[in-house]
Amino acid sequence: MAEKIPYKIYLEEHEMPTRWYNLRADMKSKPAPLLNPATLQPMTFEELQPVFCDELVRQELDEDTAFWDIPKDILNFYKMYRPSPLVRAYCLEEKLQTPARIYYKFEGNNTSGSHKLNSAIAQAYYAKAQGLQGVTTETGAGQWGTALSMACAYLGLECKVFMVKCSYEQKPFRREVMRTYGAQVTPSPSLNTQVGRKLLEKYPGTNGSLGCAISEAVEAAVTTPGFRYVLGSVLAQVSLHQSIIGLETKAAMDKYGIKPDIIIGCAGGGSNLSGLIAPFMGEKLRGEADYRFIAAEPISCPSFTRGKYAYDFCDTGMVCPLAKMYTVGSGFIPSASHAGGLRFHGMSSMLSQLYADGYMEAVALEQTSVFEAAQYFARVEGILPAPESSHAIRAAMDEALRCKETGEEKTILFGLTGTGYFDLYAYQSYNDGLMKDVAPTEEELVRSLAALPKVPGNI
Ligand SMILES: *Cc1c(COP(=O)(O)O)cnc(C)c1O
Repeated sequence: MAEKIPYKIYLEEHEMPTRWYNLRADMKSKPAPLLNPATLQPMTFEELQPVFCDELVRQELDEDTAFWDIPKDILNFYKMYRPSPLVRAYCLEEKLQTPARIYYKFEGNNTSGSHKLNSAIAQAYYAKAQGLQGVTTETGAGQWGTALSMACAYLGLECKVFMVKCSYEQKPFRREVMRTYGAQVTPSPSLNTQVGRKLLEKYPGTNGSLGCAISEAVEAAVTTPGFRYVLGSVLAQVSLHQSIIGLETKAAMDKYGIKPDIIIGCAGGGSNLSGLIAPFMGEKLRGEADYRFIAAEPISCPSFTRGKYAYDFCDTGMVCPLAKMYTVGSGFIPSASHAGGLRFHGMSSMLSQLYADGYMEAVALEQTSVFEAAQYFARVEGILPAPESSHAIRAAMDEALRCKETGEEKTILFGLTGTGYFDLYAYQSYNDGLMKDVAPTEEELVRSLAALPKVPGNI
């Protein structure tokens, strides 16, 4: 059956997944539970309820239900921009002169420009279904805030976004997209919250951080009636929604009898990677098939490759539950010269457990080599990739070049999570030859990890 694989594989409407897949159901060693920072006991439904929407708490705490029906309204929204194409990178293969076959799943074909919309619409839907007035969140580079703004506009929900101050100032276009979709965007730290005021008092003129913006958004949610907090990555519920990426990919590959040998994704908080690998990892966990999984992260924020597997705070204000994860410490702030995104200090508990159990590998990449790959890819495949996504491109190209040396005809699949139109300052710095590679020193990491919470098992 030598049927030629098309450049772009799309599923028919009736082939689209109608359920999300909860990978935890197939994990024998389950991810560690979120802990209440005060009692160090697992968070209960009642404790999470003031922060998150009820149905999302149910999804967060459920590690046994393998499949969740996707509500009809969410499926209809998905149809506006899904299925996303699975692309055979013929041009890239030819340019690299590799015997490897390369595929990428492209999630950048929507206005928000990334995969984050897959979970934004789900979280906004459950908030609406619960009769809430609105949601609060944080955003760093702005992709999550943009996706959530779009979802809230569609459903008629209010959306308050705390945007890390330096991004608020450096990425005015992202900010304006959010405002166009009706979101209220506040630079963080702000005077609107207790956490923000305290921080500004202590560090006047601070540029803010993702961890601080999270604290502000959580505080705003629990102190405003009719509001809940939503988060764009890290949590198990987000991985559940993002499984749509992997389920579509698997269905498209099965349709043409393609089996990937290596599956690669960039890793910030772990949502796109967990979503892409979910059905494949499920097969591996059940002993039905084998794959190599590779997480690609920046050397400037190396949670998997240099972090510690421990309970840590998710935010700087320490108001969120503790999560067990590979972390470089909640106070860790990547070098100011780091432009490639993926700046969160920790990693999804689910991926962390899989990594600890040896089901996954990780590579840390220098940003100059990531942007070199981004530029190469843009010229060959035509898509201007997001810097985050370009970590996966780099790792996939490295694997393809290894195949060239060995002559192996491996099939490589990677997640192309988004486009880079709002990251052109970063591209400018690369194009001008000004970009530098900065990794934290051993002392910096030791110092940052010394502030881990005192939880039994952490030392
Ligand atoms: C947010 C983002 C990421 C990283 O987040 P994960 O939760 O690790 O997936 C990667 N790529 C793009 C384009 C993003 O916007």
